[in-house]
Amino acid sequence: MKHNEQLKPCPFCGGKGEIYQAPINFRLGIEDEVYWVQCRNCFAKAGNSYSEEKAISGWNRRKKREMDKVEEQLEAERSKAIIRLGESKGTAYEYSERCTLDAYEKVIEIVKGGRNE
Ligand SMILES: [Zn+2]
Repeated sequence: MKHNEQLKPCPFCGGKGEIYQAPINFRLGIEDEVYWVQCRNCFAKAGNSYSEEKAISGWNRRKKREMDKVEEQLEAERSKAIIRLGESKGTAYEYSERCTLDAYEKVIEIVKGGRNE
């Protein structure tokens, strides 16, 4: 379909999204079309829209929203790990808290890098 190149990659697997279209009879006697975008690889789906353009922008916004939420949660965990590392200084737990913080920082880096693909 001609609009496919406007679609961002799937927020969950990075796969290609595809626009689907189906007839809908949502009021008596009035026929219309419904559009949605679905990942060809993992079948993740954005909400139905009554225009192709809205289906595309819904899919593209969905990616941003979902990824912002993931980043926000990871940043919150990272903040807690920093506090725990501070509290564990000089104790037997310091090394493992340092490793936990390093792991969060790597994951955040990967998630943020993934957004620019
Ligand atoms: Zn997917």
